[in-house]
Amino acid sequence: MTMRDTDRALVQAARAVAKLRCRSAAHTLAAAARTVDGRIVSGVNVVHPTGGACAEVVVVGTAATQNAGEVETIVTVGDRGRLLVAPCDPCRRLLAEHFPALRVIVGPVEAPQVVPLTEVPTVVDVP
Ligand SMILES: [Zn+2]
Repeated sequence: MTMRDTDRALVQAARAVAKLRCRSAAHTLAAAARTVDGRIVSGVNVVHPTGGACAEVVVVGTAATQNAGEVETIVTVGDRGRLLVAPCDPCRRLLAEHFPALRVIVGPVEAPQVVPLTEVPTVVDVP
């Protein structure tokens, strides 16, 4: 899939959220999603011994809260925006059920790629 200018803007949006809001051990990842209408929804994860929540889950909930509609593309960043992070397995299942046609931006932050959710490379560890 081709990286569009709007995809690059989405990466920048996620990186900006990470830089501003991921400043403690409680929030380490930021996700930003774009809807088919071009709206951007973002969120950060919540780290807690009871389980917390992934940034992607927060984004899905936020999109529902804002009645933002169908999410088309999502990206998650870590390390205060210096790293793109693929969704974890539970998130992939959750995202696939909510948005089967979802595009995911992955890869090195300096050379990101867009892939269908079903083709996201598996990662072993997520910070
Ligand atoms: Zn997850």
